[in-house]
Amino acid sequence: MKPDFQKQALIPVIVQDYQTKQVLMMAYTNEEAYQKMIESGETWFWSRSRQKLWHKGEESGHFQKVKGMRLDCDQDTLLVFVEQTGNACHTGAYSCFYDEVIPFDDSDIFADLEKQIADRKAHPVEKSYTNYLLDQGVDKVLKKVGEEASEVIIASKNLDKTELLGEIDDLLYHLFVLMNQTDLSLEEVRKKARERHQIEGNKKEFHTRTAD
Ligand code: AMP
Ligand code: ZN
Ligand code: ZN
Ligand code: ZN
Repeated sequence: MKPDFQKQALIPVIVQDYQTKQVLMMAYTNEEAYQKMIESGETWFWSRSRQKLWHKGEESGHFQKVKGMRLDCDQDTLLVFVEQTGNACHTGAYSCFYDEVIPFDDSDIFADLEKQIADRKAHPVEKSYTNYLLDQGVDKVLKKVGEEASEVIIASKNLDKTELLGEIDDLLYHLFVLMNQTDLSLEEVRKKARERHQIEGNKKEFHTRTAD
């Protein structure tokens, strides 16, 4: 299927981070921009303010690599999953949607944690426990994973939910440090979990319903 440009010459495009699913920006496409996006594997839009084809990143260098694309039920809105270089917003914000009218925390804490650990590795911070662990090497982290797993067991036996929560978080954090040191991404872990637990994600059964 492709967008129905007969119905509307300009079709809204919602752009999401393919990993975190964060909504990055919203723009419009027309038939020509759509063709260019399909052919190039990068986002192209129709700029309404400048009245011209717009290769996102052409001035800023902040290109968006297309990882996936979906059409809505009546082919008049496009959803594009991208790998974002730099920032999606021309203000320098990662996402255009930073203005909180009604504050709500939609962050993906585990994706953020993975990023923070990678960031600490790239730019060490003084007195950072993560940097201390990374400096000590894999064996130290493995020891911590073992300890935290034991603490999870003890907290469970103690029927102490507060303690258990803390220990599960300790264990997860150390697993994330281990993943960083063994070069495993959260995306790979998610993929494996989906396979092994046969979770279909958001492919619901509603697609058989016809649009009005
Ligand atoms: P870029 O495509 O990032 O090189 O930016 C080219 C032009 O598009 C600049 O004039 C920006 O101000 C504008 N622009 C870039 N990103 C956005 C965005 N997310 N929303 C609206 N305008 C944008
Ligand atoms: Zn629609
Ligand atoms: Zn913006
Ligand atoms: Zn602990």
